[in-house]
Amino acid sequence: MGHHLDALVDAAATGDGVSLDGLTAVHDDAGFRLETPDATLSGLTEGGLREALADCDDYATNWYFWSEVLGESGPQRRAFLRWVEGARVDAGGDDDGDGDGGDNDADADADADAASVPERYDALRDGVSREWGQLLVTATVDDHGERSYELRHADEVDADRDELDAYHEPLAARQLATYDEKGRYRPLKSGNNLAGGWVFPDLGGRDLVETVETFYPASVPNWYRERRGELDVTHWEDAIGRQTGMYSVVKTWNRGDGHEHVDWVAEACCDDSQCVKRREWQYDDDADLDVDGGDGAFPCREPCSVVIAASRKWTRLEGEDTQTYEFELTPSEKEQVEAIVDAVADDRTDDIREADVYEGANRYRARFLRAKLFDDEGNLGGVPTDAPDDE
Ligand code: SF4
Repeated sequence: MGHHLDALVDAAATGDGVSLDGLTAVHDDAGFRLETPDATLSGLTEGGLREALADCDDYATNWYFWSEVLGESGPQRRAFLRWVEGARVDAGGDDDGDGDGGDNDADADADADAASVPERYDALRDGVSREWGQLLVTATVDDHGERSYELRHADEVDADRDELDAYHEPLAARQLATYDEKGRYRPLKSGNNLAGGWVFPDLGGRDLVETVETFYPASVPNWYRERRGELDVTHWEDAIGRQTGMYSVVKTWNRGDGHEHVDWVAEACCDDSQCVKRREWQYDDDADLDVDGGDGAFPCREPCSVVIAASRKWTRLEGEDTQTYEFELTPSEKEQVEAIVDAVADDRTDDIREADVYEGANRYRARFLRAKLFDDEGNLGGVPTDAPDDE
């Protein structure tokens, strides 16, 4: 008999007994009562309870893991770990465990597709994986109900573990998150450019969440708050208003054309192709942006420093008046300019090979265009950038 059974029998005998994931074990006037979705047994002696529990050991070890091993572990961590393995996450507004069935119904709604313990265990024995941004978390269970977690880059789902560099300390994630694949500094932790090549093969629950939080700071608490309906969102207007010197300049963006500029900011920076967070901030309380916030697993609650810094720059640029220039381009040259902008915006320039001269953003094609159209000062079509004198 495992010590999980000793703990469970003790817990069943005290107070309200045990109730988790379909398992109920309590002591009443008739003795012990044991309920699972498959059977209800009552009037049991302690020995009878132990015997019955041995027949539903998955339920017993599951209870032991969540109640005793994780125990007082913070509610956010617990919620995240339960989400990872597809268990019902208690994200209702009432966390004091007062046994109010109404709250549990509300939770059940949120996790209507949560799997039963035997289903979960079947899946966990093979490994259950979830994506979190560009991270892939895989949970497994051993014969004692102990979970362990593997963390790797989501793009390397099929990579052989031995071919990845193994790490064990959550803080190692800090270094791994600093540079992208090409060795460039990543200013945005949630940027969609996390490098791979590493694995945390065997983390406990606490270390898993710490590692995830090192890759994506505050992602778990914000996700948790959102589930509880408590995410505190700061919209663009308020976020910008707090930036010294920003408000007056940014106001120039709002002249007559609504929030179009902010739509462009969101499209440029917050798109799923650029950032793994799901943008929840909008223009203000009343006006949503016209751009989709994305499908990220965890929310973004306010414009980040990268977006603010970029907006400062755009604000200055957008303050300029337009000019009319006259160049002559062949249709293919016009399309080539468009292809170059697309390739840079989608970070595809490195993928376009020298030999690929059908690509507008091919290096030789771009050099040819420059040789043909730029003058010695680098002016397109030989047309100076300065505003031409008015007549
Ligand atoms: S503001 Fe946009 S780019 Fe910045 S973290 Fe949020 S979603 Fe990502």
